Amino acid sequence: MKIAIYPGTFDPITNGHLDIIERAAQLFDKVIVTVAVNSSKTPMFTTEERLQLVRAAVKEKKIGNVSAEAFSGLLVEFAQKKKAAVLIRGLRAVSDFEYEFQMALMNRKLAPKITTVFLMPHEKYTYLNSSIVREIARLNGNFRDFVPPSVYKTMKKKLTT
Ligand code: ADP
Repeated sequence: MKIAIYPGTFDPITNGHLDIIERAAQLFDKVIVTVAVNSSKTPMFTTEERLQLVRAAVKEKKIGNVSAEAFSGLLVEFAQKKKAAVLIRGLRAVSDFEYEFQMALMNRKLAPKITTVFLMPHEKYTYLNSSIVREIARLNGNFRDFVPPSVYKTMKKKLTT
């Protein structure tokens, strides 16, 4: 059983994240999307909300072998606890590379048996990230094409209440 962990902040999950999740779900028996609790960023959505949005998006896409869990602490320890041999990260552009390279090598140093696998999304998602989606939404722009339908609804609601 090949288990992969896909860690991130997911504030909120976008179609870019979902593209990576779909690819990972085809490669591995089980994918655990892990939503970071102790992120240095101040999230728009609570951990519980971000988890629910990941679950709803995966359900909408009918991807069966993906679950979502919150985590805090050292990622490699969480992976070991879950018996995952693989960490998934998305690579959009060269600008992602330096940070991801450092993280992957550090995680390998901490846990040599865990391998980081980089997946590239469809090119239409390469300019997409959660913070730009939050920005457009806050400024009342049209962000419908960038997020799963459930995320769109929840975000609209959050911004009007
Ligand atoms: P983090 O705070 O750990 O960067 P994110 O939620 O921003 O968390 O991203 C989680 C992972 O998903 C990272 O590997 C990131 O590069 C990747 N990712 C984010 N947006 C996209 C996208 N549009 N296409 C592909 N991968 C993406």
